[in-house]
Order: sequence, then structure tokens, then C-alpha cells
Amino acid sequence: MTAERVEVKQKVLSANDRLAAEIRADLTSRGVLCLNLISSPGSGKTTLLEKTIDELKSKLRLAVVAGDVQTRNDAERLERHGVPVEAIETGGGCHLNAEQVSKSLSGLGLSELDLLFVENVGNLVCPSSFDLGESMKVVLMSVTEGEDKPLKYPAAFRRAGALVLTKIDLIPHLQFSAERAVENARSINPELEVFATSSFTGEGLAEWLDWLLEAAERKRSG
Ligand code: MG
Ligand code: ZN
Repeated sequence: MTAERVEVKQKVLSANDRLAAEIRADLTSRGVLCLNLISSPGSGKTTLLEKTIDELKSKLRLAVVAGDVQTRNDAERLERHGVPVEAIETGGGCHLNAEQVSKSLSGLGLSELDLLFVENVGNLVCPSSFDLGESMKVVLMSVTEGEDKPLKYPAAFRRAGALVLTKIDLIPHLQFSAERAVENARSINPELEVFATSSFTGEGLAEWLDWLLEAAERKRSG
């Protein structure tokens, strides 16, 4: 990269960071927990959100900002579960930025929320560099991906507070060691909370849901 391009990139990132800090301050003052979900395409972000919404919507006030390169398909799937959803179509953009999220938030009644999910564009690379004002990044990884994914894409795992391993019902059909995958992830980030889940069988979801309830409660009580 040329010096000029590096400079432009730094300016874009710092403008993004300033807006993200405003979003974070606003959400924090309202006691809203915001989780930024990051993963490769097809790892099960939308499906996990559908299950999570069904289980938690009687206990918490939820909303979703759903990003995709193209289509509102995920947003429409999520809307059917009866919570407010704002879609962001990036039109080719491979990550969400704070400006897009800020615009979407104006369509949601933030004071009436406990937990806001941001479903990032499916991509393990640049979404991890863009602060969206979230309370925490959550990285998802399905068991159909390689156990070494955390080693190949360390930034996403380093910057996340939690890892959700998805589709664990498929493990019997695969050469996949969940232990090794978690070991790899913790070698990058020893602090990671880890959840092993199947949205299909429901296995492991209780731990994930309890953790969300506790985190939302902590956020609400400041
Ligand atoms: Mg999705
Ligand atoms: Zn990108």
C-alpha cells in the first residue's frame, strides 16, 4: 500500500471510530447491550438469531440490525419472529461501518430496548476492524469450517468477547475436533467465552441464552 493510501485508510477508520464512540455512549446511557455478530458466510448467524429471539423476546426487548451485501432476505426472516429489524444492504461493501449502523438506529426506538444484535456481513476479515459502537463482538464459527480458522483469521477472534461454535449436531459426520478448535481460539484470545451450540437440536443454547440475559441485566443496571 502507498503512504497516501495508508493515510486515507487511517482517516476513514478514525472517522468511523469517532462515530462508533458516539453510538456506544448513546447505547450505554440507555442501558442497551449491543452485540456485533461476525463470521464467515453460512456459519449460522441468522439461524442463531431466530432461535435466540424466540427464546428471549418474552424476557428482553430485542431488535436487530441485519447487514448483507445484497437482499433483505435475512432481515425478512428475522422480522417474522416479531421484533424490530433494520436491514442494511451494503451493495458490494464487505463489512458494516458505524455510519450505516447510526442511520439504522434512528429507525429503532432505542429507549425501548434491552438487547440489540448487529448481524454483520458474512466475512471474517474486515468486519473485525470496524468498530460499530457495540458492547462486544461475538464471533461465530461452524463445525464445517476448519479447526484452524482462529489461527487463519486471528483478528476476529482476538477482538471478540465470545465465540459461538455452531452446527455441533453435524460433528458425528465430520472430522472436526471441537476441543482443538476451542484450543486454537483460546490460543489467540484466552479470555473468550465459548458456547457450543446447535440451532437445529437446541443443544448448548441454554448456556448462550443465560449468558445473554445476565449480560443484558448487567448493562441495564449500569
Ligand atoms: Mg445471515
Ligand atoms: Zn470490508
